Amino acid sequence: MSVSNLSVSQQKAVTDLFRRIAPVADELGELFAANGHELAVVGGSVRDVFLARIGNDLDLTTDARPERVLEIVKDWADSIWTIGIEFGTVGVRKGNWVLEITTYRSESYDPKSRKPEVAYGDTLEADLERRDFAVNAMAVRLPGHEFVDPYGGLSDLAAKVLRTPGTPERSFDDDPLRMLRAARFASQLGFTVDPAVVTAMTEMADRIEIVSSERIRDELDKLICGAHPREGLGILVDTGLAAHVLPELPKLRLEIDEHHRHKDVYEHTLIVLEQAIALEAAGADRVLRWAALLHDIGKPKTRRFEDGGRVSFHHHEVVGAQMTKKRLAELRFPKDVVADVSRLVELHLRFHGYGTGEWTDSAVRRYVRDAGHLLERLHKLTRADCTTRNKRKAQALSRTYDDLEERIARLADEEELAKMRPELDGNEIQQILGVGPGPVVGKAYKFLLEMRLDQGVVGKENATEALMSWAREQGVISG
Ligand code: ATP
Ligand code: MG
Repeated sequence: MSVSNLSVSQQKAVTDLFRRIAPVADELGELFAANGHELAVVGGSVRDVFLARIGNDLDLTTDARPERVLEIVKDWADSIWTIGIEFGTVGVRKGNWVLEITTYRSESYDPKSRKPEVAYGDTLEADLERRDFAVNAMAVRLPGHEFVDPYGGLSDLAAKVLRTPGTPERSFDDDPLRMLRAARFASQLGFTVDPAVVTAMTEMADRIEIVSSERIRDELDKLICGAHPREGLGILVDTGLAAHVLPELPKLRLEIDEHHRHKDVYEHTLIVLEQAIALEAAGADRVLRWAALLHDIGKPKTRRFEDGGRVSFHHHEVVGAQMTKKRLAELRFPKDVVADVSRLVELHLRFHGYGTGEWTDSAVRRYVRDAGHLLERLHKLTRADCTTRNKRKAQALSRTYDDLEERIARLADEEELAKMRPELDGNEIQQILGVGPGPVVGKAYKFLLEMRLDQGVVGKENATEALMSWAREQGVISG
Protein backbone atom coordinates (compact mmCIF):
# COMPACT_ATOMS: atom_id res chain seq x y z
CA MET A 1 0.00 0.00 0.00
CA SER A 2 1.30 3.44 -0.79
CA VAL A 3 0.51 7.09 -0.16
CA SER A 4 -2.05 7.09 -2.97
CA ASN A 5 -4.45 5.06 -0.81
CA LEU A 6 -4.90 8.02 1.44
CA SER A 7 -7.85 10.36 1.16
CA VAL A 8 -7.19 14.01 0.49
CA SER A 9 -7.47 15.05 4.13
CA GLN A 10 -5.37 12.10 5.29
CA GLN A 11 -2.70 12.88 2.75
CA LYS A 12 -2.83 16.47 3.96
CA ALA A 13 -2.37 15.33 7.57
CA VAL A 14 0.64 13.25 6.59
CA THR A 15 2.08 16.07 4.51
CA ASP A 16 1.49 18.55 7.33
CA LEU A 17 3.18 16.30 9.83
CA PHE A 18 6.21 15.86 7.66
CA ARG A 19 6.38 19.54 6.91
CA ARG A 20 6.56 20.11 10.65
CA ILE A 21 9.03 17.36 11.40
CA ALA A 22 10.80 17.20 8.07
CA PRO A 23 14.00 18.84 9.24
CA VAL A 24 14.19 16.24 11.97
CA ALA A 25 12.66 13.07 10.54
CA ASP A 26 13.83 13.42 6.97
CA GLU A 27 17.29 14.46 8.05
CA LEU A 28 17.53 11.39 10.23
CA GLY A 29 16.07 9.22 7.47
CA GLU A 30 18.75 10.45 5.11
CA LEU A 31 21.42 9.82 7.72
CA PHE A 32 20.25 6.23 8.13
CA ALA A 33 20.03 5.73 4.36
CA ALA A 34 23.55 7.08 3.92
CA ASN A 35 24.67 4.46 6.45
CA GLY A 36 22.86 1.74 4.52
CA HIS A 37 19.91 1.37 6.90
CA GLU A 38 16.15 1.74 6.82
CA LEU A 39 14.15 4.07 9.05
CA ALA A 40 10.39 4.58 9.41
CA VAL A 41 7.95 6.49 11.60
CA VAL A 42 5.73 3.87 13.19
CA GLY A 43 3.09 2.91 15.72
CA GLY A 44 1.28 5.50 17.79
CA SER A 45 3.00 8.31 15.94
CA VAL A 46 1.47 7.35 12.61
CA ARG A 47 -1.93 6.54 14.14
CA ASP A 48 -2.04 9.89 15.91
CA VAL A 49 -1.34 11.86 12.72
CA PHE A 50 -4.66 10.62 11.36
CA LEU A 51 -6.38 11.35 14.65
CA ALA A 52 -4.86 14.84 14.80
CA ARG A 53 -3.28 14.00 18.18
CA ILE A 54 0.20 15.25 17.44
CA GLY A 55 2.72 15.58 20.23
CA ASN A 56 6.45 16.16 20.22
CA ASP A 57 7.56 12.58 20.39
CA LEU A 58 8.07 10.22 17.55
CA ASP A 59 8.36 6.44 17.45
CA LEU A 60 10.81 5.25 14.81
CA THR A 61 11.90 1.81 13.75
CA THR A 62 14.97 0.57 11.87
CA ASP A 63 16.80 -2.55 10.77
CA ALA A 64 19.97 -1.19 12.41
CA ARG A 65 20.87 -2.90 15.70
CA PRO A 66 20.98 -0.61 18.75
CA GLU A 67 24.79 -0.29 18.84
CA ARG A 68 24.71 0.70 15.19
CA VAL A 69 21.93 3.23 15.92
CA LEU A 70 24.14 4.78 18.60
CA GLU A 71 26.98 5.17 16.13
CA ILE A 72 24.72 6.73 13.50
CA VAL A 73 23.09 9.30 15.78
CA LYS A 74 25.95 10.17 18.11
CA ASP A 75 27.07 13.31 16.22
CA TRP A 76 23.56 14.32 15.17
CA ALA A 77 21.56 14.10 18.41
CA ASP A 78 21.39 16.85 21.06
CA SER A 79 21.27 14.10 23.67
CA ILE A 80 20.95 10.34 23.79
CA TRP A 81 19.70 7.94 26.44
CA THR A 82 20.01 4.19 26.54
CA ILE A 83 17.76 2.96 29.37
CA GLY A 84 15.69 0.98 26.84
CA ILE A 85 18.61 -0.41 24.92
CA GLU A 86 18.09 -3.94 26.33
CA PHE A 87 14.76 -3.90 24.50
CA GLY A 88 16.26 -2.40 21.38
CA THR A 89 15.34 1.23 21.99
CA VAL A 90 17.65 4.23 21.75
CA GLY A 91 16.22 7.56 22.90
CA VAL A 92 17.26 10.74 21.14
CA ARG A 93 16.47 14.40 21.67
CA LYS A 94 16.86 16.79 18.76
CA GLY A 95 15.57 20.32 19.38
CA ASN A 96 12.05 19.98 20.78
CA TRP A 97 11.66 16.47 19.48
CA VAL A 98 11.99 13.29 21.48
CA LEU A 99 12.64 10.33 19.22
CA GLU A 100 12.58 6.67 20.21
CA ILE A 101 14.39 4.53 17.70
CA THR A 102 13.65 0.84 18.11
CA THR A 103 15.28 -1.94 16.15
CA TYR A 104 12.87 -4.17 14.16
CA ARG A 105 11.61 -6.85 16.46
CA SER A 106 10.04 -10.25 16.20
CA GLU A 107 9.79 -10.93 19.90
CA SER A 108 7.91 -13.80 21.38
CA TYR A 109 6.84 -14.16 24.94
CA ASP A 110 8.13 -16.90 27.20
CA PRO A 111 4.98 -17.99 29.07
CA LYS A 112 6.99 -18.50 32.25
CA SER A 113 8.84 -15.23 32.14
CA ARG A 114 7.60 -11.79 33.19
CA LYS A 115 9.68 -9.96 30.62
CA PRO A 116 9.08 -10.07 26.90
CA GLU A 117 12.00 -11.73 25.16
CA VAL A 118 13.60 -9.56 22.55
CA ALA A 119 14.49 -11.03 19.19
CA TYR A 120 15.53 -8.62 16.46
CA GLY A 121 14.04 -8.87 12.99
CA ASP A 122 15.13 -7.73 9.54
CA THR A 123 12.04 -6.36 7.81
CA LEU A 124 9.58 -3.59 8.53
CA GLU A 125 6.66 -5.88 7.65
CA ALA A 126 7.68 -8.48 10.24
CA ASP A 127 8.10 -5.74 12.83
CA LEU A 128 4.60 -4.46 12.10
CA GLU A 129 3.15 -7.96 12.42
CA ARG A 130 4.22 -8.29 16.03
CA ARG A 131 2.66 -4.97 17.00
CA ASP A 132 -0.41 -4.94 19.18
CA PHE A 133 -3.17 -3.61 16.93
CA ALA A 134 -3.55 -2.91 13.22
CA VAL A 135 -4.09 0.79 13.96
CA ASN A 136 -0.68 0.76 15.67
CA ALA A 137 0.92 -1.26 12.87
CA MET A 138 1.22 1.41 10.20
CA ALA A 139 4.49 3.04 9.17
CA VAL A 140 5.82 5.83 6.99
CA ARG A 141 9.25 5.14 5.55
CA LEU A 142 11.89 7.87 5.66
CA PRO A 143 13.00 9.90 3.89
CA GLY A 144 10.59 9.02 1.03
CA HIS A 145 7.27 9.11 3.02
CA GLU A 146 6.06 5.78 1.65
CA PHE A 147 2.99 4.73 3.64
CA VAL A 148 3.07 1.08 4.76
CA ASP A 149 -0.13 -0.51 6.08
CA PRO A 150 -0.15 -4.30 5.60
CA TYR A 151 -2.93 -5.03 8.12
CA GLY A 152 -5.57 -2.50 7.15
CA GLY A 153 -4.82 -0.11 10.01
CA LEU A 154 -6.21 2.86 8.16
CA SER A 155 -9.60 1.28 7.50
CA ASP A 156 -9.71 0.13 11.14
CA LEU A 157 -9.00 3.69 12.15
CA ALA A 158 -11.95 4.85 10.07
CA ALA A 159 -14.14 2.13 11.58
CA LYS A 160 -12.77 2.92 15.06
CA VAL A 161 -12.03 -0.70 15.80
CA LEU A 162 -9.13 -2.52 17.44
CA ARG A 163 -8.04 -5.71 15.72
CA THR A 164 -4.78 -7.59 16.02
CA PRO A 165 -2.55 -7.96 12.92
CA GLY A 166 -2.50 -11.77 13.26
CA THR A 167 -4.84 -13.95 15.32
CA PRO A 168 -5.55 -12.45 18.73
CA GLU A 169 -4.70 -15.76 20.46
CA ARG A 170 -1.21 -15.79 18.98
CA SER A 171 -0.74 -12.11 19.77
CA PHE A 172 -1.84 -12.40 23.41
CA ASP A 173 0.21 -15.53 23.79
CA ASP A 174 3.27 -13.50 22.77
CA ASP A 175 2.45 -10.72 25.22
CA PRO A 176 -0.66 -10.89 27.43
CA LEU A 177 -0.28 -7.20 28.27
CA ARG A 178 -1.81 -6.47 24.87
CA MET A 179 -5.19 -7.52 26.32
CA LEU A 180 -4.98 -4.58 28.72
CA ARG A 181 -3.76 -2.32 25.95
CA ALA A 182 -6.99 -3.10 24.05
CA ALA A 183 -9.02 -1.76 26.97
CA ARG A 184 -6.64 1.17 27.35
CA PHE A 185 -6.99 2.24 23.71
CA ALA A 186 -10.77 1.76 23.91
CA SER A 187 -10.68 4.34 26.70
CA GLN A 188 -8.18 6.71 25.09
CA LEU A 189 -9.52 6.61 21.55
CA GLY A 190 -13.16 5.65 22.05
CA PHE A 191 -12.71 2.64 19.75
CA THR A 192 -14.53 -0.67 20.01
CA VAL A 193 -12.70 -3.96 20.37
CA ASP A 194 -13.28 -6.49 17.61
CA PRO A 195 -15.47 -9.41 18.85
CA ALA A 196 -12.77 -12.00 18.03
CA VAL A 197 -10.36 -10.01 20.17
CA VAL A 198 -12.88 -9.82 23.03
CA THR A 199 -13.36 -13.59 22.83
CA ALA A 200 -9.61 -14.21 23.04
CA MET A 201 -9.32 -11.78 25.95
CA THR A 202 -12.09 -13.59 27.78
CA GLU A 203 -10.56 -17.01 27.19
CA MET A 204 -7.02 -15.92 28.01
CA ALA A 205 -7.68 -13.45 30.83
CA ASP A 206 -5.75 -15.47 33.40
CA ARG A 207 -2.59 -15.19 31.29
CA ILE A 208 -2.31 -11.58 32.47
CA GLU A 209 -0.96 -12.98 35.76
CA ILE A 210 2.52 -13.42 34.27
CA VAL A 211 2.82 -9.73 33.40
CA SER A 212 4.71 -7.47 35.80
CA SER A 213 2.79 -5.07 38.05
CA GLU A 214 4.55 -2.05 36.59
CA ARG A 215 3.43 -2.78 33.06
CA ILE A 216 -0.12 -3.45 34.26
CA ARG A 217 -0.11 -0.21 36.25
CA ASP A 218 0.94 1.88 33.25
CA GLU A 219 -1.91 0.56 31.13
CA LEU A 220 -4.52 0.86 33.89
CA ASP A 221 -3.42 4.39 34.63
CA LYS A 222 -3.65 5.41 30.98
CA LEU A 223 -7.07 3.74 30.81
CA ILE A 224 -8.36 5.68 33.84
CA CYS A 225 -6.94 8.92 32.45
CA GLY A 226 -8.45 8.34 29.02
CA ALA A 227 -11.46 10.12 27.54
CA HIS A 228 -13.77 7.09 27.80
CA PRO A 229 -12.87 5.18 30.98
CA ARG A 230 -16.38 3.70 31.29
CA GLU A 231 -15.83 1.79 28.05
CA GLY A 232 -12.33 0.64 28.98
CA LEU A 233 -13.41 -0.50 32.43
CA GLY A 234 -16.44 -2.26 31.00
CA ILE A 235 -14.15 -4.30 28.75
CA LEU A 236 -11.94 -5.24 31.71
CA VAL A 237 -14.91 -6.34 33.79
CA ASP A 238 -16.76 -8.15 30.99
CA THR A 239 -13.74 -10.15 29.82
CA GLY A 240 -12.77 -11.15 33.36
CA LEU A 241 -9.44 -9.28 33.17
CA ALA A 242 -10.53 -6.97 35.99
CA ALA A 243 -10.83 -9.97 38.32
CA HIS A 244 -7.06 -10.35 37.95
CA VAL A 245 -5.80 -6.78 37.83
CA LEU A 246 -8.42 -4.86 39.84
CA PRO A 247 -10.58 -7.46 41.60
CA GLU A 248 -12.29 -4.87 43.80
CA LEU A 249 -14.05 -3.50 40.74
CA PRO A 250 -16.13 -6.48 39.54
CA LYS A 251 -17.08 -7.13 43.16
CA LEU A 252 -18.98 -3.83 43.14
CA ARG A 253 -21.27 -5.33 40.55
CA LEU A 254 -22.51 -7.88 43.05
CA GLU A 255 -23.28 -5.15 45.51
CA ILE A 256 -26.75 -3.65 45.47
CA ASP A 257 -26.74 0.11 45.84
CA GLU A 258 -27.89 0.91 49.35
CA HIS A 259 -30.41 3.49 48.19
CA HIS A 260 -31.58 1.29 45.28
CA ARG A 261 -30.96 4.16 42.93
CA HIS A 262 -28.70 2.19 40.65
CA LYS A 263 -28.49 -1.34 39.39
CA ASP A 264 -25.45 -1.83 41.61
CA VAL A 265 -22.56 0.00 43.28
CA TYR A 266 -20.48 -0.51 40.15
CA GLU A 267 -22.88 1.59 38.09
CA HIS A 268 -22.94 4.24 40.82
CA THR A 269 -19.11 4.23 40.76
CA LEU A 270 -18.96 4.82 37.01
CA ILE A 271 -21.33 7.77 37.32
CA VAL A 272 -19.25 9.22 40.15
CA LEU A 273 -16.13 8.83 38.00
CA GLU A 274 -17.79 10.60 35.08
CA GLN A 275 -19.12 13.38 37.30
CA ALA A 276 -15.66 13.83 38.84
CA ILE A 277 -14.15 14.07 35.35
CA ALA A 278 -16.70 16.74 34.46
CA LEU A 279 -15.41 18.79 37.42
CA GLU A 280 -11.76 18.60 36.36
CA ALA A 281 -10.29 22.01 35.70
CA ALA A 282 -7.64 21.18 33.11
CA GLY A 283 -6.49 17.79 31.91
CA ALA A 284 -6.99 14.39 33.53
CA ASP A 285 -6.51 14.42 37.31
CA ARG A 286 -5.12 10.95 38.01
CA VAL A 287 -5.55 11.18 41.79
CA LEU A 288 -9.15 12.37 41.58
CA ARG A 289 -10.06 9.72 39.02
CA TRP A 290 -8.57 6.84 40.98
CA ALA A 291 -10.26 8.09 44.14
CA ALA A 292 -13.61 8.25 42.35
CA LEU A 293 -13.13 4.75 40.98
CA LEU A 294 -12.16 3.23 44.33
CA HIS A 295 -14.23 5.32 46.77
CA ASP A 296 -16.76 2.59 47.53
CA ILE A 297 -14.62 -0.57 47.30
CA GLY A 298 -15.02 -1.04 51.05
CA LYS A 299 -18.73 -1.67 50.65
CA PRO A 300 -18.79 -5.41 49.91
CA LYS A 301 -16.74 -6.15 53.03
CA THR A 302 -18.75 -3.95 55.37
CA ARG A 303 -22.27 -4.80 54.31
CA ARG A 304 -24.70 -5.60 57.13
CA PHE A 305 -28.40 -6.37 56.97
CA GLU A 306 -30.10 -4.26 59.60
CA ASP A 307 -33.52 -4.73 61.15
CA GLY A 308 -36.33 -3.67 58.86
CA GLY A 309 -34.52 -4.88 55.75
CA ARG A 310 -32.12 -1.96 55.59
CA VAL A 311 -28.55 -2.44 54.41
CA SER A 312 -25.63 -0.60 55.98
CA PHE A 313 -21.95 -0.23 55.13
CA HIS A 314 -20.53 1.20 58.33
CA HIS A 315 -16.95 2.45 58.06
CA HIS A 316 -16.71 1.40 54.43
CA GLU A 317 -14.62 4.52 53.83
CA VAL A 318 -12.01 3.37 56.37
CA VAL A 319 -11.96 -0.19 55.06
CA GLY A 320 -11.98 1.15 51.50
CA ALA A 321 -9.00 3.40 52.21
CA GLN A 322 -7.02 0.41 53.49
CA MET A 323 -7.97 -1.66 50.46
CA THR A 324 -7.04 1.24 48.19
CA LYS A 325 -3.62 1.54 49.78
CA LYS A 326 -3.01 -2.15 49.35
CA ARG A 327 -4.15 -2.34 45.74
CA LEU A 328 -2.28 0.75 44.55
CA ALA A 329 0.88 -0.30 46.37
CA GLU A 330 0.66 -3.75 44.75
CA LEU A 331 0.37 -2.01 41.40
CA ARG A 332 3.57 -0.12 42.32
CA PHE A 333 2.06 3.34 42.16
CA PRO A 334 4.32 6.08 43.54
CA LYS A 335 3.98 6.55 47.29
CA ASP A 336 2.40 10.01 47.05
CA VAL A 337 -0.30 8.74 44.69
CA VAL A 338 -1.09 5.84 47.04
CA ALA A 339 -1.27 8.22 50.01
CA ASP A 340 -3.40 10.84 48.24
CA VAL A 341 -5.92 8.47 46.69
CA SER A 342 -6.45 6.48 49.89
CA ARG A 343 -6.81 9.70 51.90
CA LEU A 344 -9.56 10.90 49.58
CA VAL A 345 -11.33 7.54 49.87
CA GLU A 346 -11.13 7.83 53.64
CA LEU A 347 -12.54 11.37 53.64
CA HIS A 348 -15.22 10.96 51.00
CA LEU A 349 -18.07 10.59 53.48
CA ARG A 350 -17.03 13.18 56.04
CA PHE A 351 -19.22 15.90 54.55
CA HIS A 352 -22.33 13.86 55.21
CA GLY A 353 -21.97 14.62 58.89
CA TYR A 354 -22.41 18.29 58.01
CA GLY A 355 -26.19 17.83 57.92
CA THR A 356 -27.70 21.21 57.14
CA GLY A 357 -24.74 23.18 58.36
CA GLU A 358 -24.46 22.21 62.01
CA TRP A 359 -20.68 21.90 62.07
CA THR A 360 -18.82 24.17 64.45
CA ASP A 361 -16.04 26.34 63.10
CA SER A 362 -13.61 23.93 64.63
CA ALA A 363 -15.19 21.01 62.72
CA VAL A 364 -14.87 22.99 59.50
CA ARG A 365 -11.26 23.79 60.30
CA ARG A 366 -10.57 20.13 60.99
CA TYR A 367 -12.11 19.17 57.63
CA VAL A 368 -9.77 21.59 55.91
CA ARG A 369 -6.76 20.46 57.90
CA ASP A 370 -7.44 16.74 57.32
CA ALA A 371 -7.87 17.29 53.59
CA GLY A 372 -4.69 19.39 53.42
CA HIS A 373 -3.50 19.78 49.84
CA LEU A 374 -6.35 17.50 48.73
CA LEU A 375 -9.13 19.94 49.67
CA GLU A 376 -10.01 20.98 46.10
CA ARG A 377 -10.15 17.35 45.04
CA LEU A 378 -12.22 16.43 48.08
CA HIS A 379 -14.72 19.11 47.09
CA LYS A 380 -14.95 17.56 43.63
CA LEU A 381 -15.14 13.97 44.84
CA THR A 382 -17.84 14.77 47.38
CA ARG A 383 -19.92 16.67 44.83
CA ALA A 384 -19.42 13.90 42.26
CA ASP A 385 -20.56 11.28 44.79
CA CYS A 386 -24.11 12.58 44.65
CA THR A 387 -25.88 10.41 42.06
CA THR A 388 -29.49 10.63 43.15
CA ARG A 389 -31.98 11.07 40.33
CA ASN A 390 -34.16 13.12 42.67
CA LYS A 391 -33.41 16.65 41.45
CA ARG A 392 -34.61 18.38 44.62
CA LYS A 393 -32.42 16.17 46.78
CA ALA A 394 -29.42 16.69 44.52
CA GLN A 395 -29.89 20.45 44.56
CA ALA A 396 -30.24 20.49 48.33
CA LEU A 397 -26.99 18.53 48.72
CA SER A 398 -25.19 20.76 46.28
CA ARG A 399 -26.41 23.90 48.10
CA THR A 400 -25.30 22.46 51.42
CA TYR A 401 -21.87 21.85 49.95
CA ASP A 402 -21.82 25.41 48.56
CA ASP A 403 -22.53 26.53 52.10
CA LEU A 404 -19.63 24.48 53.45
CA GLU A 405 -17.28 25.90 50.83
CA GLU A 406 -18.42 29.42 51.69
CA ARG A 407 -17.76 28.80 55.36
CA ILE A 408 -14.32 27.46 54.53
CA ALA A 409 -13.58 30.58 52.49
CA ARG A 410 -14.90 32.88 55.21
CA LEU A 411 -12.93 31.16 57.94
CA ALA A 412 -9.81 31.28 55.81
CA ASP A 413 -10.30 35.03 55.30
CA GLU A 414 -10.94 35.64 58.96
CA GLU A 415 -7.93 33.65 59.92
CA GLU A 416 -5.80 35.59 57.49
CA LEU A 417 -7.14 38.68 59.21
CA ALA A 418 -6.39 37.27 62.61
CA LYS A 419 -2.85 36.52 61.51
CA MET A 420 -2.35 40.04 60.20
CA ARG A 421 -0.14 42.25 62.39
CA PRO A 422 0.82 45.91 62.15
CA GLU A 423 4.39 46.57 61.18
CA LEU A 424 5.32 47.82 64.64
CA ASP A 425 4.66 45.75 67.76
CA GLY A 426 3.69 46.93 71.24
CA ASN A 427 7.26 47.32 72.44
CA GLU A 428 8.26 49.38 69.43
CA ILE A 429 5.19 51.59 69.85
CA GLN A 430 6.13 52.26 73.48
CA GLN A 431 9.71 53.09 72.51
CA ILE A 432 8.75 55.41 69.66
CA LEU A 433 6.14 57.27 71.69
CA GLY A 434 8.16 57.16 74.88
CA VAL A 435 5.23 55.77 76.85
CA GLY A 436 4.74 52.77 79.12
CA PRO A 437 2.04 50.08 78.83
CA GLY A 438 -1.47 51.48 78.79
CA PRO A 439 -4.56 52.26 76.65
CA VAL A 440 -2.57 54.55 74.33
CA VAL A 441 -0.51 51.61 73.14
CA GLY A 442 -3.70 49.67 72.32
CA LYS A 443 -5.11 52.63 70.38
CA ALA A 444 -1.85 53.11 68.49
CA TYR A 445 -1.80 49.39 67.70
CA LYS A 446 -5.32 49.59 66.28
CA PHE A 447 -4.38 52.63 64.20
CA LEU A 448 -1.37 50.81 62.75
CA LEU A 449 -3.45 47.69 62.05
CA GLU A 450 -6.03 49.73 60.14
CA MET A 451 -3.22 51.32 58.20
CA ARG A 452 -1.75 47.90 57.48
CA LEU A 453 -5.14 46.70 56.21
CA ASP A 454 -5.67 49.82 54.10
CA GLN A 455 -2.21 50.25 52.67
CA GLY A 456 -0.48 46.89 53.03
CA VAL A 457 3.20 46.84 53.94
CA VAL A 458 4.76 50.33 53.91
CA GLY A 459 8.02 49.69 55.78
CA LYS A 460 8.94 50.40 59.39
CA GLU A 461 10.20 53.93 58.64
CA ASN A 462 6.94 55.07 57.07
CA ALA A 463 4.95 53.31 59.78
CA THR A 464 6.97 55.17 62.43
CA GLU A 465 6.35 58.50 60.71
CA ALA A 466 2.64 57.82 60.44
CA LEU A 467 2.52 56.76 64.07
CA MET A 468 4.20 59.99 65.14
CA SER A 469 1.82 62.25 63.23
CA TRP A 470 -1.15 60.25 64.49
CA ALA A 471 0.16 60.67 68.04
CA ARG A 472 0.55 64.42 67.53
CA GLU A 473 -3.01 64.70 66.21
CA GLN A 474 -4.23 62.70 69.18
CA GLY A 475 -2.28 64.92 71.51
CA VAL A 476 -0.44 61.90 72.87
CA ILE A 477 2.87 63.56 72.19
CA SER A 478 3.61 67.21 71.62
CA GLY A 479 5.56 68.95 68.86
P1 ATP B 1 0.88 6.39 23.62
O1 ATP B 1 2.33 6.69 23.45
O2 ATP B 1 -0.05 7.46 23.25
O3 ATP B 1 0.58 5.81 24.95
P2 ATP B 1 1.41 4.35 21.65
O4 ATP B 1 0.54 3.63 20.69
O5 ATP B 1 2.52 5.17 21.11
O6 ATP B 1 0.47 5.23 22.59
P3 ATP B 1 3.38 3.00 23.16
O7 ATP B 1 3.20 2.21 24.41
O8 ATP B 1 4.17 4.27 23.20
O9 ATP B 1 1.93 3.27 22.63
O10 ATP B 1 4.00 2.06 22.08
C1 ATP B 1 4.45 2.51 20.81
C2 ATP B 1 4.10 1.49 19.74
O11 ATP B 1 4.79 0.27 20.00
C3 ATP B 1 2.62 1.11 19.68
O12 ATP B 1 1.89 1.98 18.86
C4 ATP B 1 2.68 -0.29 19.13
O13 ATP B 1 2.88 -0.26 17.73
C5 ATP B 1 3.94 -0.86 19.75
N1 ATP B 1 3.74 -1.55 21.02
C6 ATP B 1 3.89 -1.04 22.25
N2 ATP B 1 3.69 -1.96 23.19
C7 ATP B 1 3.42 -3.10 22.56
C8 ATP B 1 3.14 -4.44 22.95
N3 ATP B 1 3.06 -4.78 24.25
N4 ATP B 1 2.92 -5.35 22.00
C9 ATP B 1 2.98 -5.01 20.71
N5 ATP B 1 3.24 -3.81 20.26
C10 ATP B 1 3.46 -2.85 21.15
MG1 MG C 1 4.11 6.25 22.20
